[in-house]
Amino acid sequence: MTTVGAAGTPWMMSECGSRAMLAITQNVEGTTTNVVRERIELVCRKAAGHQGPHHDPDRGESWEGAAGKVATLLRNEDEL
Ligand SMILES: [Zn+2]
Repeated sequence: MTTVGAAGTPWMMSECGSRAMLAITQNVEGTTTNVVRERIELVCRKAAGHQGPHHDPDRGESWEGAAGKVATLLRNEDEL
């Protein structure tokens, strides 16, 4: 058993820690094109080994993610 690390270290709290990229898109006026205005990194705060989708409570976003892959979520700013 590992005893290294102090309280407050995320890994010691056995968080899932899976990451995803949230891309906020913006419509380009007069076209159907979207451009990415902002990118935000999401981190799953659920317990390690949890069931179901990952969830970042800071952004209120959930996502499905395969192990070892960074999912990308797209949100249009008009929908925020
Ligand atoms: Zn997770």
